[in-house]
Amino acid sequence: MTDSGLQDVPAVSRPHVEPGRLYIDGQWCEANAKGRRDVIDPSTGKVVTTVAEAGAADVDAAVTAGRRASGPWARMSGRERARVLHRVADLVRRRADELVAVESLDVGKPVSLCRAVDVATTAEIYEYYSGLAQTIQGATRQIPIPSHAYTSREPLGVVGAITPFNFPLILSSAKIAPALAAGNAVVHKPAEDTPLSALLMAEILAEAGVPDGVLNVVTGAGAEAGEALLRHPGIDKIAFTGSTEIGRHAARMAGEALKPVTMELGGNAAQIVFEDADLDKAIGSVIKGFVFNTGQFCMGGPRLLVHRSLYDTVLEILAGAVAGVPVGDPFDPATVVGPMAAERHLAKVERYVALAREQGGRIVTGGERLELGGGYYYRPTIIAGLDDDSRVVQEEIFGPVLTVQPFGTEDEAVELANGTPYGLAAGLQTTDLARAHRVAARLEAGIVWVNDWAMLDPAIPFGGVKQSGYGREYGPEALESYTKVKSVVIAL
Ligand code: NAD
Repeated sequence: MTDSGLQDVPAVSRPHVEPGRLYIDGQWCEANAKGRRDVIDPSTGKVVTTVAEAGAADVDAAVTAGRRASGPWARMSGRERARVLHRVADLVRRRADELVAVESLDVGKPVSLCRAVDVATTAEIYEYYSGLAQTIQGATRQIPIPSHAYTSREPLGVVGAITPFNFPLILSSAKIAPALAAGNAVVHKPAEDTPLSALLMAEILAEAGVPDGVLNVVTGAGAEAGEALLRHPGIDKIAFTGSTEIGRHAARMAGEALKPVTMELGGNAAQIVFEDADLDKAIGSVIKGFVFNTGQFCMGGPRLLVHRSLYDTVLEILAGAVAGVPVGDPFDPATVVGPMAAERHLAKVERYVALAREQGGRIVTGGERLELGGGYYYRPTIIAGLDDDSRVVQEEIFGPVLTVQPFGTEDEAVELANGTPYGLAAGLQTTDLARAHRVAARLEAGIVWVNDWAMLDPAIPFGGVKQSGYGREYGPEALESYTKVKSVVIAL
């Protein structure tokens, strides 16, 4: 997805990870922590280390540190902050092996994917916002009152960043980099299942020169540390990525306190293959859309809609190709699909596939666990023959499962694609340029891909509509969302 020059770095082996502590005001600590939480390697089911479980007192200390540190950081020039963020990008590249090893161990991501996507994109996010840190500006406005009138953009203060388990490095960087570029401090609460890279990034940001207190990391449970962050009066914005259910709760809490929020929530995107598609390319894109990151991808495309004339052909080609996708140990460089990140995610996939069977769905390929080394593996699965209103089609499964449905007309394809509560991503395969634009305009989604899947870049905003949330990450849009506008009018 990105051109980082990292692809040639040699394979990495499973790292030994020391127990993690909280990172507050530039110190590694756990004085107030409520205990320790096991971190499990999803490819073996074994505990690899532990992290501190932050409580409300830790969150309070982190927010207090953020408030103290945010002023001096905000008063630095954008160019000075840019230099620091650029050093973060450099260090991410220099320490890529370490980051790949830790993220793969924690999430079960294939090392090849982790290197080419997660770590490469993390460096690019910091690089991109290092550039934008120097561009923050207001405008002068000419008004009829004799005056000098202008606007300026100011940082918000302290941002509470809450992130999910599936792309820990990328999704936390997509919040921390623009927030810091704009002059804010951040308190980051990573997902309980996958907290390790957040701690490593705290170390990297400190090494790059981010002052004490500007980034604080509190590992721990959503219901404890996350909740304390949502409730804290010293937090000026909540940047949340996670499920629609928890997002709704977070938005309610922020609404009560009148705090701005970014809500990056669930998805259940459709991939449409029209009768004029280039089939070779379409098949590759469809597979990428549902096996990428073992299907634990908010922007994945788990609903395939195929023109009736191609339905049987596409199913047959897909079944053969998917059965050949290498599933296995994330530390094997040849692996394309690793384990699910946690046992509960695997159990959820199993429940949905069982439901599909009950509802008369036909398992075209997969449909079972892969017993391998005690890990949480599930074979990439294709299910045909379900009705559109089946819960298996409508709900977010978040695993390597693709449902396939035929359609007849362009209108029908659009209706089916838009027919879930979600609206994060959508995609279509066509060789007809007019159709590409026409259908893209009608799809209810924050991002639409044509003739490929998951083309993402820090410069391209992403985010959802409908139950997939609101606000945008990436692009100048994200930077702006970490600022507030002030108008100044001086009488002349
Ligand atoms: P989740 O909602 O269970 O957890 C997300 C974060 O919220 C975690 O850090 C968790 O600890 C925290 N949390 C849980 N309860 C909380 C509470 N009461 N108060 C405050 N914080 C709380 O999501 P998940 O299972 O980690 O991630 C999967 C979900 O995230 C999927 O729905 C996926 O679509 C979504 N997601 C969305 C995007 C996007 O960009 N839109 C990206 C990745 C994942």
